[in-house]
Amino acid sequence: MSAILEVTGLSVSFDGFKAVDGLDFSVEEDELRCVIGPNGAGKTTLLDMICGKTRPSAGSIRFRGRELTGLIEYAITRAGVGRKFQNPSTYEDLSVRENLEISHPGRRGIAGCLFAHHSAEVDERIESIAAEIHLADRLQTKAALLSHGQKQWLEIGMLLMQEPALLLLDEPVAGMSAREREVTAGLLQRIAKGRALVVIEHDMGFVGSIAHRVTVLHQGRLLAEGRMEDVQRDQRVIDVYLGQ
Ligand code: ADP
Ligand code: MG
Repeated sequence: MSAILEVTGLSVSFDGFKAVDGLDFSVEEDELRCVIGPNGAGKTTLLDMICGKTRPSAGSIRFRGRELTGLIEYAITRAGVGRKFQNPSTYEDLSVRENLEISHPGRRGIAGCLFAHHSAEVDERIESIAAEIHLADRLQTKAALLSHGQKQWLEIGMLLMQEPALLLLDEPVAGMSAREREVTAGLLQRIAKGRALVVIEHDMGFVGSIAHRVTVLHQGRLLAEGRMEDVQRDQRVIDVYLGQ
């Protein structure tokens, strides 16, 4: 197995407070990793540093051997790292099709895309991704009219348009119904074939159903890592969750 992502000694402080503190974290090619931990553990901050939103104060982030620290967000996206934030950020006034289309890397902004000629290849990609995210019959629907769960799927679809090799998802099932969670579990398992996924999630049932391995963060540090069934039995993990 080879690592697609290798984070070593990663740290960042906010006003002297160490949000992430000397973290080592690596993800294999094709792996679906879940990151859990109590609120404030540093999970979102870890993703922020990988995608270039937050600059680490120390440490290294290597993606397929290439150092990402110091690169701007756009360059990290171009290198093949996709990031989904907690709240869906779809364009409400645009249709599902248009939202997917403007996410195609060949398109430049909304205007450039809406007036450009559609290539058959881009259309095919849009349609296959729409089917993947269960929105094939909603291509003409404005994003504003989608349910919260459908907006989350659309945003995942927008990321897939960029064909990332590593996808980082922050609480993708927050606010979803039980049925939507189930559908999302299947979706994430399918899109993890051929790429690596890092998913932050609180819903332990959901994590147990999708994760190959689980990383537990606590106070910016690695608390435990391994298969869900082992991590759940780890006394340090139990203590942290009981102490919440
Ligand atoms: P998690 O996602 O695990 O709940 P976060 O990574 O969001 O935790 O936050 C970790 C800690 O860092 C928290 O104490 C949070 O308040 C702090 N933090 C995160 N981002 C910032 C920021 N931009 N400025 C100041 N403090 C921050
Ligand atoms: Mg968070």
